[in-house]
Amino acid sequence: MKQAPVLNPDLALSEIRMPEGLLLLDGKLSGASPSARRIDVLNPATGEFITTIPACTAADVDHAVMAAHRCFESQAWRSMRPLDRGRLLERLALLIEEHAEELAQLESLDSGKLLSVTRMIDIPFAIEALRYFAGWSSKISGEYIALSPLVQDGASYRAYTERKPMGVVGGITPWNFPLGQAIQKLAPAIACGCTVVLKPSEETSLTTLRLGELILEAGFPAGAVNIVTGYGHDAGAALVEHPLVRKISFTGSTATGQRIWAAAAPTMKRVTLELGGKSPTIILADADLSRAVPGAAAAIFSNSGQICTAGSRLLIEAAVYEEVIAGVADIARTLKLGSGADPQAQIGPLISARQREQVAGLVRSSLDEGAVALAGGDMIGEAGWFYQPTVLTEVSREMPVMREEVFGPVVCALRIEESSQLVDLANDTPYGLAASIWTRDLERAHLLADRIDAGTVWLNTHNVLDLAVPFGGRKLSGVGREFGSEAIQAYTEPKAVCMRLDRGAMVGY
Ligand code: NAD
Repeated sequence: MKQAPVLNPDLALSEIRMPEGLLLLDGKLSGASPSARRIDVLNPATGEFITTIPACTAADVDHAVMAAHRCFESQAWRSMRPLDRGRLLERLALLIEEHAEELAQLESLDSGKLLSVTRMIDIPFAIEALRYFAGWSSKISGEYIALSPLVQDGASYRAYTERKPMGVVGGITPWNFPLGQAIQKLAPAIACGCTVVLKPSEETSLTTLRLGELILEAGFPAGAVNIVTGYGHDAGAALVEHPLVRKISFTGSTATGQRIWAAAAPTMKRVTLELGGKSPTIILADADLSRAVPGAAAAIFSNSGQICTAGSRLLIEAAVYEEVIAGVADIARTLKLGSGADPQAQIGPLISARQREQVAGLVRSSLDEGAVALAGGDMIGEAGWFYQPTVLTEVSREMPVMREEVFGPVVCALRIEESSQLVDLANDTPYGLAASIWTRDLERAHLLADRIDAGTVWLNTHNVLDLAVPFGGRKLSGVGREFGSEAIQAYTEPKAVCMRLDRGAMVGY
């Protein structure tokens, strides 16, 4: 039987430096408009009140967008050397590095993520993303094109293209990697010469607000980056609808992504949408189970299953099915739950009571329909929003828990009787974000990878993201890609300049 989670033994709230709770607007830290209400920020590990943040209104969003627009149109921003835009990102990276421990603690407190994870992954990722895109700022180029004009008037024609920044970018982020996602939007946008308005999740705005203070310290020009907080249907929607915003880069749920794409249509905003997933972890009979079993467990239980690429469907060839589910269930039963600050904790709470209720509802309905919980299957703990790491068997393809994104520590295991079923089962989801295949047969691995309808396929690993590798989803998992050169394409558009060279000008030369 699982122990109740251990809470907050050595991370006292009073010792964590809180941001002032001020927005970054037009190069100043400011309060929201007087009519803006406040949103309570609660500790997911205890349910206790931490602080409040502003629920910005459309007027606050307008203020932010106008500042970003003025900066984008200014001579100073337009003529800033690409290397100097890169230098702004590098300065911010240095400041985040200087404040890494403080940010790791704040992120852990606000989101419930394990402190070991915010220290080793979230904050280092933010720093590396800034440095990675700082390097790109001076390497953005167009092309030269020789023309073949239909009208042959004796002149010579040439064209070149430039990659022009889109303009004001609205970056809207979720709660599972708050600071990392904010940087993931900001860094390529600034590298490309765009200006930015960030709107973090109302559940986890604290590190993005603190980021605003560091952006100011790094010396970004007024309006280059602006930060508003608030609800999606309010501040988020105002950002998407604002006519001066030229692009929305959004990470979040598919339902919100669909709403945003529709709302962006009237003003023809460009969109990058990184949405949900229902990714398969596929274990073939010849896999090295000493790696595949812990790999499958990590694929679903990391970050309490709150990862868009979580391996939430475990497809196992019949010959190793029993061994794999027993192994993953053993791991699930022994994972230690605790608050982010508990150094022994291996899995933290879910973000909110609402999220936990959603996870619990999906599991309950599958159990009612005949699924079996080999491990977990229920909420746990008196305080905070903990859910047991759960392994479900006897699931059917039609159950909602097999079709919908759970976004919690819940994996559904399915036995594969015939290898000819593999591709069909792996692709039997409206999502197409990621998949992993575990096998010693690399030929089979590559042939299978070719048939999986997903943005990323991992072989003998899961959840390895790299800033140089394009990331994004197919089908309901999204539109466009982040990271690598794809990110540069996503924040710029080509402008073609075409010229006529009169051959007569050569006379005498
Ligand atoms: P969410 O869609 O509820 O919210 C995400 C953001 O959108 C928040 O900032 C929210 O305030 C805002 N928002 C909500 N409604 C809006 C509207 N109408 N207009 C504009 N903005 C609006 O998502 P969430 O619950 O915060 O995050 C979890 C989801 O994010 C999961 O589905 C997960 O798979 C997805 N996710 C995807 C990726 C990826 O890269 N594909 C990464 C992380 C998370």
